[in-house]
Amino acid sequence: MRRYSVFALAREALRHHAGWERAWRSPEPKPRYDVVIVGAGGHGLATAYYLAKNHGVRNVAVLEKGWLGGGNTGRNTTIIRSNYLQPPSAAIFEKARQLYETLSQDLNFNVMFSPRGVLMLAQTEHELRAWKRTWHANRLAGIETEMVSPARIREIVPAINLDGPRYPVLGGLWQARGGTARHDAVAWGYARAASDLGVDIIENCAVTGIDRDAAGVTGVRTTKGAIACGKLCLVVAGSSGVLAEMAGFRLPIESLALQALVSEPVKPAIDCVIMANTVHGYISQSDKGEMVIGGGTDGFNNYTQRGSFQHVEETLRALIETFPMLSRLRMLRQWGGIVDMTGDRSPIIGASPVPGIFVNCGWGTGGFKAIPGSGWACAEMLARGAPGDLAGPFGLDRFTEGRMIDESVAAAVAH
Ligand SMILES: Cc1cc2nc3c(=O)[nH]c(=O)nc-3n(C[C@H](O)[C@H](O)[C@H](O)COP(=O)(O)OP(=O)(O)OC[C@H]3O[C@@H](n4cnc5c(N)ncnc54)[C@H](O)[C@@H]3O)c2cc1C
Repeated sequence: MRRYSVFALAREALRHHAGWERAWRSPEPKPRYDVVIVGAGGHGLATAYYLAKNHGVRNVAVLEKGWLGGGNTGRNTTIIRSNYLQPPSAAIFEKARQLYETLSQDLNFNVMFSPRGVLMLAQTEHELRAWKRTWHANRLAGIETEMVSPARIREIVPAINLDGPRYPVLGGLWQARGGTARHDAVAWGYARAASDLGVDIIENCAVTGIDRDAAGVTGVRTTKGAIACGKLCLVVAGSSGVLAEMAGFRLPIESLALQALVSEPVKPAIDCVIMANTVHGYISQSDKGEMVIGGGTDGFNNYTQRGSFQHVEETLRALIETFPMLSRLRMLRQWGGIVDMTGDRSPIIGASPVPGIFVNCGWGTGGFKAIPGSGWACAEMLARGAPGDLAGPFGLDRFTEGRMIDESVAAAVAH
């Protein structure tokens, strides 16, 4: 595949951009692969890329029922941070954040990583104490974060109202190298780079059944026919329970819609990410000028990828307390994605009860930021047949052994 560069851009500009090749191949499936990955979201594609790049495993297919990146990867609010409380989470999210720093160069695709800073507001005494605890944990884990005062918050984001009617801003946890990236570009970049290394990415190919014999998995049935495989990795976010059922086991996962919305575009007003967990809402401004606003999950399990008026109202009511200037903005779009929630709000990366089948799921409301780290760890697990240090603590066995990695209290809004 030809590399993207300033010279390629100039050359194509001179010939009306008629010479660009397709970003990734769209082959017909082969009868057998060493590894089949179900789900061409960020996590599935990153896993395929690092399998090929780090471990030389190239007889790999990624099967996607719709279009690449059309799941949660293309529906999220793109926040990247690594200021988690528990050491295993800090390790994998910080690995991901570090990989994001040079991802555009690595993939030769501009993922528009923008380390503009992430500010998590403390609006109760309890929250202030919780962020201080996280800050100390971050320092022990070697993650650079800082507790900031209301005066410093005013400097970081002048548009903020510190004296909200219900919850004044008492301080915040600031991660200066957190930020955002273009979500579609992350999926496209991994797809292009993986395809270039020989991975087959097969879109419009839904997995409808999983075949196994006494020794373990043998292959999958799809809308494009049967495909045999040596190893199978399920990376399907909100559909994880459905795929697990096909394979004959259950996962400790609940699926529900998480919603977000964007406003009409306006001139630059907010140049970092702000999360207000107590009132529940978070906001950043896209490069196009839209306010990207994240809401909450539905209060009941469902498989709808839709928004609802109730969430628009609730989220905006909360954010307007902190950003009164939003009150006159018109909202342009709202949507939902099906997220996969575990009880401890940490992901599952590990072997399943069926030999040869592995799962990478449970990223819930906060897996976009983890894509590079998750792909790295999952590829290592598939190549070796067992998880390495990064993935090790996140196995399914933690639910039977009671070794929870509890991020639910630490991150009430876990994006
Ligand atoms: C509104 C919203 C806001 C969010 N905000 C953030 C944020 O700011 N920061 C953050 O870090 N995270 C955020 N997240 C979470 C993040 O988007 C997800 O954790 C992450 O994208 C999951 O990626 P994935 O690759 O696991 O899943 P997905 O991107 O959902 O990919 C799974 C793929 O599997 C495919 N699939 C399903 N069933 C089958 C089948 N039977 N056969 C073949 N393919 C199948 C689907 O079509 C889908 O493309 C947000 C999520 C939502 C919905």
